[in-house]
Amino acid sequence: MSDIIVQKFGGTSVGSDERISAVAEIIKQANEKERVVVVVSAMSGETNRLIGLAKTFGDNPDTREFDALISTGEKVSASLLAMALSSIGIKAKSFSASQISMKTTNQHSKAKIIDIDGDKILASLAEGIVPIITGFQGITESGDITTLGRGGSDTTAVAIAAHIKASRCDIYTDVDGVYTTDPRIVPEAKKLKSITMEEMLEMAGQGAKVVQIRAVEFANKYNVPIRVLSSFEEGEGTLISLKEENMENALISGIAFQKDLTKFTLHSVSDKPGIAYEILNPVNDKEIGVDVIVQNVSVNGKTDFTFTVDSEDEEEVKKILEDERTDIEFEDLEVDNNIAKVSIVGAGIRSNAGIASKAFKALAAENINIQIISTSEIKLTLVIEEKYLELAVRTLHKAFNLDK
Ligand code: ASP
Ligand code: MG
Repeated sequence: MSDIIVQKFGGTSVGSDERISAVAEIIKQANEKERVVVVVSAMSGETNRLIGLAKTFGDNPDTREFDALISTGEKVSASLLAMALSSIGIKAKSFSASQISMKTTNQHSKAKIIDIDGDKILASLAEGIVPIITGFQGITESGDITTLGRGGSDTTAVAIAAHIKASRCDIYTDVDGVYTTDPRIVPEAKKLKSITMEEMLEMAGQGAKVVQIRAVEFANKYNVPIRVLSSFEEGEGTLISLKEENMENALISGIAFQKDLTKFTLHSVSDKPGIAYEILNPVNDKEIGVDVIVQNVSVNGKTDFTFTVDSEDEEEVKKILEDERTDIEFEDLEVDNNIAKVSIVGAGIRSNAGIASKAFKALAAENINIQIISTSEIKLTLVIEEKYLELAVRTLHKAFNLDK
């Protein structure tokens, strides 16, 4: 039997009737060689429109109804695509999350996939019918609709690929692959032929917009290779591979960055066991992602504790920290959302000590002050003032010859 592949089409790829027809042709061609399972996003702009609509009767709509509403965009595109396929002689059927029992946790708008009924999908394939599945959503144990967070269709696609043991998950979007950095900031950015999962995780986590990070985590965990490619033009795209594809891989794969971050600093926290846990656990309990975490060397039993979160979580974190004040002793709380993060990502960082000093030198030459430095095996992250972000990205891209 032929291999199964999952093809996922993003919002711009299904953004109009012409686009849906073009996608139907892509599926038709793939369907000649492989068994194809399709996952779709809502037509571009639709989810935003629905989110706006959800605020008609107040800014804080009921979370259950919010998800029920904003999940409808994918139903539209799935059915339309099934119709487009039928019109060119390909049998296809749309499936909603409940029709394939895409079970998730109860966390509305941030739900996590727990299980899928793969049999429905496989049965459809066995009948020669291309299943078109709504991305971005699932159902709770009791059947309520949930959504997976913005960009969640990527995760749907990879989860399905993992579950039915597809040989690959192709993510079609409006860019032709993963670049060394955002070409809107550095026009000389180069498309990567391949990148390893762990590097991609860093690129995605650091704000590379091409694939949702959760999708890459899933792919990494369940060994699903992903290919990112354009539905607008032909090309091989970028393979996000499980292992190092070839030995020629560059030391540094790319420069990732993120704006819209908020830095929290608790000054003069009593430095005793359990303090980091006490500060961050309530944040974690609210499923708020904490990114860079730094604790200083303490002086006289007091230390400064800093961490960053997405700015959209700023208010909630502020509230948590203020409520906590009674339990944790600290002098004052500094909140700074005028920051950005730039990261150098590459498997070469592991074995190459010169990389950090090269980065520091390049930024110093541009007079960019570094507020926080944090490193991992394959990443060097620098927090800087937001207004220097683009300059920093360009400077580092050049310093590491990524334009060559
Ligand atoms: N339609 C959803 C969004 O706009 C999910 C997705 O496109 O992946 O976030
Ligand atoms: Mg997307």
